[in-house]
Amino acid sequence: MTQKNINDMLTSYDKKNLTICTVCSHSSLQIFNGARKEGFKTLGIAIGEKKKFYDAFPLGKPDEFLIVNNYKDILKCTDELRKKNVVVIPHGSFVEYFGADNFIKLDLPTFGNRNVLMWESDRKMEREWLEGAGLTMPQEIKNPKDINKPVIVKYHGAKGGKGFFIAKTFDEFQKRIQKNKSFTIQEFVMGTRYYLHYFYSPIQDDAYKLSKGSLQLLSMDRRDETTIDEVHRLGSIAELEELGIHPTFVVTGNIPIVMRESLLPKVFKMGESVVEKSLELFGGIIGSFCLETVITEDLEFKVFEISARIVAGTNPYIAGSPYSEMIQPDLSTGRRIAQEIKYAAKKNLLHEVLS
Ligand code: AMP
Repeated sequence: MTQKNINDMLTSYDKKNLTICTVCSHSSLQIFNGARKEGFKTLGIAIGEKKKFYDAFPLGKPDEFLIVNNYKDILKCTDELRKKNVVVIPHGSFVEYFGADNFIKLDLPTFGNRNVLMWESDRKMEREWLEGAGLTMPQEIKNPKDINKPVIVKYHGAKGGKGFFIAKTFDEFQKRIQKNKSFTIQEFVMGTRYYLHYFYSPIQDDAYKLSKGSLQLLSMDRRDETTIDEVHRLGSIAELEELGIHPTFVVTGNIPIVMRESLLPKVFKMGESVVEKSLELFGGIIGSFCLETVITEDLEFKVFEISARIVAGTNPYIAGSPYSEMIQPDLSTGRRIAQEIKYAAKKNLLHEVLS
């Protein structure tokens, strides 16, 4: 999909009658709830079946469902969706299970810049972007034989941290590695984890100003990961590993958190340089994004990942966060996305925030 295709599509849209659409999963309750608060119609794409639990949350339920057999079938429904003036909001599960390749060719206007996908999904390019922006990332260990401190081994494309493991020596690595999968080895950073939820608007100047537009910090969370976050209940990791029980990093939920205020200048500086670098590299990371960080005991941030869209860590804040409360009461990331689309539609700037 080129920007020209999207712009052509938008000319036929009734911009006073847009429908906010996403896949029913991940942060969809928040997205629908936020869109509803801003006066949009909403449409939920349900994969396989309509999930009954939406009936229990009337303010998070979409006005309408479209049921498809599987993710790929979304590609067959685009004519129907365009007739409803649909704007698609991508989230983590949507892009992961639909597939970045399919997402890139989806012929519907989507919130954010699709060019970000290749920079985010290729670990080399991600590093070029983030280190190019002056951020510190965990050291990468190219040769497993060089493991001389705790490392985390990550399989490519692993969903929700599945299969990741810690190794402290080459021997431990050898015992655990699944040789048929491609992987990355990173220094395991000791510290506390903060997942920072930003919002970058290229078209509004009323927040932390950048060379173009402005940046907000809407919230932050810490992920709850099983079994690593509770494993200490049973004994030390070393004791358990002797028994063949290894901690895992599967995300099960999100915990609200705030950070000492004196660290906020660094948080904004990091967000600023990530956006500025993205403008230089691929036209900008638009809307919500998340930096996944560890703060060391020297109060240095190490950034181990970027997510270029709404993350599930924003879900604790459907009624606002301690940060968004100081922007506007009751402001979730889902609502902020809807506001951006509403503002862009009003000012004839949809091409600046949709791709
Ligand atoms: P990721 O898929 O990269 O978000 O990683 C999944 C989880 O592994 C994170 O939420 C962290 O708990 C942990 N993790 C990832 N990278 C590191 C690292 N370099 N040091 C310490 N923990 C990490």
